[in-house]
Amino acid sequence: MAPTKKPRILIVYTGGTIGMIEDPVTKALKPFDFSHLLENVPKIKMLDYEIDNIQFHPPIDSSDMNVEHWKLIAHSIADNYDNYDGFVVLHGTDTMSYTASALSFMLQNLQKPVIITGSQLPIGEVRTDGEENLITALQIAADRRADGTPTVSEVAILFENYLWRGNRSTKRSADNFNAFRSNNYPELAKIGLGINFRYDALAENHNGGPLEPHYEFDTMVMPIDLFPGLNEAVFRHQLATPGIRGIVLRTYGMGNGPTEDWFLDALADAVRRGVVVVNVTQCVNGGVQSGRYISGEKISETGVISGHDITFEAAITKMMYLLGLGIEADEVRRRFEQPIAGEITI
Ligand code: ASP
Repeated sequence: MAPTKKPRILIVYTGGTIGMIEDPVTKALKPFDFSHLLENVPKIKMLDYEIDNIQFHPPIDSSDMNVEHWKLIAHSIADNYDNYDGFVVLHGTDTMSYTASALSFMLQNLQKPVIITGSQLPIGEVRTDGEENLITALQIAADRRADGTPTVSEVAILFENYLWRGNRSTKRSADNFNAFRSNNYPELAKIGLGINFRYDALAENHNGGPLEPHYEFDTMVMPIDLFPGLNEAVFRHQLATPGIRGIVLRTYGMGNGPTEDWFLDALADAVRRGVVVVNVTQCVNGGVQSGRYISGEKISETGVISGHDITFEAAITKMMYLLGLGIEADEVRRRFEQPIAGEITI
């Protein structure tokens, strides 16, 4: 559909603090419906946009998010893709980076903005970050370049002063308004008096081609964290989890771990059984460089692949996504080491 004069934006409301209200008895925050949320942001009408919405029934705390919810969000976008210029997903902060990563893999050939936001304080409270986040997200979803194409054509998280690439983001604070951060990729925009986009960091607009949504995930995956003291019995037990198909191994520094035989043999056995194991660093910044230390090199010799500078959130969702394609383990390994949606730097 040719862009109309008024930007057309679809809001997908999944829940999260932004739309929550306090339970009068327990005082705990619980999700509430979308009309309540809109009533609290009368300023939305000052934006000359056509805005529609879809909401989860019931809206959820994002700690309840699962792959079925991701399918609902992706369907809300894909099924309405041609009718809107941009999409804003309202979501709890707790698992926002996981959803942003998952959507970036699900929505292949995305050429429109999918801006995810939420807030640390409910929108109905006197002092809230929700109103500003919602309005800025709508403005970013409506923004166009000089040639008329969308400024943002990827899945991104807008929170307080920054727009981040979704699959590069991590929730870094439980109570700071600037709750998200991307440790290995620059911001896509800085929000101050204006919205200052970093065109060098934004995904390039593709040339045509329809959206190609993928909805299947394989959830037979798990993380394993290394720590000094990890013993063979515990490690072998984890690797032998019945039905496990993918493991995100969280290692030290540049991808290092013990050089003892029991550790390396256990990993090699898992790889031989067809389990895809990816090496991801526990450090918040930087990535895996397996050849840098002998300990990292030994891990890669077992058949464990490198996650480069991927976040944990993107690694676990990418693993579920690739295994969900029903391709051979070797093909999963090959594709994992290549960027799919700008989630790693080679
Ligand atoms: N527990 C909430 C959620 O993730 C936190 C938030 O939205 O900030 O839904």
